[in-house]
Amino acid sequence: MQKSAENLFLHADGDSFFVACEVSQHPEYIGKPVVVGEDRGIAVAMSYEAKKLGVTRGMPVFKIKKQFPSVVILPHHFDLYRKISKNVHDILLSYLEEVEVYSIDECFATVKQSDIRFAGSADELVKSIKDEIQNTLNVTYSFGLGRTKALAKTASKLNKPNGMVILTNIKDEEQALKKTSIDDIWGIGRRTVPRLRDMGMKTAYDFVHYNSDYIKKYFSSPLFHLQQELSGSSIYELDPNADPRDQKSIQSTATFKPSTNDLQIIFTELSSNVERACEHARSLGLMTNFISFFIKNTDFIHHVGSSHLTLYTTDPGIILNKLEPLLYELVSKLKDNEKIRSTGITLHNLRKYENVPRDLFGVQDGYEAKNIIEEVSDRIREKFGHDALKRASSLKVAKKENRS
Ligand SMILES: [Mg+2]
Repeated sequence: MQKSAENLFLHADGDSFFVACEVSQHPEYIGKPVVVGEDRGIAVAMSYEAKKLGVTRGMPVFKIKKQFPSVVILPHHFDLYRKISKNVHDILLSYLEEVEVYSIDECFATVKQSDIRFAGSADELVKSIKDEIQNTLNVTYSFGLGRTKALAKTASKLNKPNGMVILTNIKDEEQALKKTSIDDIWGIGRRTVPRLRDMGMKTAYDFVHYNSDYIKKYFSSPLFHLQQELSGSSIYELDPNADPRDQKSIQSTATFKPSTNDLQIIFTELSSNVERACEHARSLGLMTNFISFFIKNTDFIHHVGSSHLTLYTTDPGIILNKLEPLLYELVSKLKDNEKIRSTGITLHNLRKYENVPRDLFGVQDGYEAKNIIEEVSDRIREKFGHDALKRASSLKVAKKENRS
């Protein structure tokens, strides 16, 4: 469904959000190297000063203490982050009617022409919101304004921290797209980037100007939609009431070629979906204790399996251990000429990390220690791309046709 061309989208993104929240409560830390993550034993977030010193995400706390004794190391205070996040949401709502909470430190909002007229200009509107957040909450956000959600999201990244990028004409849009690497485009899947690079695309600008019929024909429809979004046709709608942490399930599916009945290949495919779903759940601070999966043959017939887990987790290893025998059973029952073309996994019963019951014997805590390792892996993927780190079982993935 097309949105009215009149509307613009705003994207707001907190700068080093967890650390900024801590510093907002402790003015004595202003300008100091600060790290959050003492309770996890690793650096989960750090101030720009700490980054400058050389502290990196995932660095063990003991190492930071030894190498950088001046760094202030703090535990997480999720209640504080949620409170500030809610206050930011309220400030946005005082200026704009429709606001979507995208994550703890990111929001999208619809900006109508009447909002802009009321403020005087798009610049003045965004600046007022930005200043109010900074002055009342003592944290900074970076902003992007554009004709579509994908353009707004691209814009907010360009002048971090504490920046704002307003894209209201084609020339500015083109410049923004040229400055955005193909690796940094929001929503391009991990397996797609190398394919686009092979086709000669280096920036978002190259992607937008690539033959869209070709993209439509040879790639999944989400990629075609993204190309439309980045070229200024609004496809993604605002979801004003969504709290992504309220979702009850997360799914990851993929179609592959050629179709096969090889257990190893099917397991590898499924494994890759499990990793992706778990990574998404971890990014939202959600955990699962019930999983289901399917394998689908070339006649679009589904075979399904499911399993309860004893505890809540987002550890792909634990989930795959449960899935392996179930998958083996399904594959062994396939008819001789039956070939599988896609697999999918759903994590059900999602529960917020902070609401997961702690059991008496510390087993849940053991699970969480494993999750820390996974979290560090996520950071490395974030930094070096999705293919930088993969579980051995996901390595031999067949050529992707579609992933969602
Ligand atoms: Mg942020």
